[in-house]
Amino acid sequence: MKTPDFDVVIIGGSYAGLSAAMALGRAVRRVLILDSGQPCNRQTPHSHNLITQDGATPAHITAVAKEQVLAYPTVRFQAGTATAVMGESNSFVVETAAGEQFRARKILFATGVRDLLPAIPGFAESWGISVIHCRRWILASSSATGPGNSPCSPMAPLLSVRSSASSCKPSLLR
Ligand SMILES: Cc1cc2nc3c(=O)[nH]c(=O)nc-3n(C[C@H](O)[C@H](O)[C@H](O)COP(=O)(O)OP(=O)(O)OC[C@H]3O[C@@H](n4cnc5c(N)ncnc54)[C@H](O)[C@@H]3O)c2cc1C
Repeated sequence: MKTPDFDVVIIGGSYAGLSAAMALGRAVRRVLILDSGQPCNRQTPHSHNLITQDGATPAHITAVAKEQVLAYPTVRFQAGTATAVMGESNSFVVETAAGEQFRARKILFATGVRDLLPAIPGFAESWGISVIHCRRWILASSSATGPGNSPCSPMAPLLSVRSSASSCKPSLLR
């Protein structure tokens, strides 16, 4: 059996993967972050409700996080897509779409979630821009159109379609 290249391979290098890598890097673990560069929020222009980062772009948050994480010398970042994980505890092999193989004692999946969007023309292109998700609360401006614009809509718990950011007033939150 070959010696593992890494203590941990983290599959997914967005916020969750980078957070895990920081904790492991600080514990002087040999870590490889493997990331395909497709975070779920990649279309959204600005982040909100994240302390110190309100209004920042998702790419900026990731860039700062990556810089801080890669300051730990035992952490490495690799762009790529994991296509297979084989083996058993303390002896895993991760394969990538480019044909690379990485050996690790542990695998940490930080691959996020994939939003399944309805097949409405223009919906996917507007996701995170003018079609937003509001967990728990519905925020709909008077000029809003489309699914989810009524608290009674079947999609109301999931979606709010609004015409401008100004409709997202804290006073609407309960
Ligand atoms: C439109 C939208 C707007 C949002 N706005 C906000 C906001 O304003 N404020 C807020 O706090 N939260 C917001 N969120 C939520 C926030 O973006 C997520 O909670 C956060 O991105 C989750 O981080 P994650 O690392 O778990 O997953 P993700 O950010 O989705 O990252 C997963 C990573 O894993 C990679 N990956 C997946 N499979 C593989 C594979 N096989 N091999 C290699 N890499 C792989 C992907 O490329 C991606 O980089 C928003 C989400 C969306 C969809």
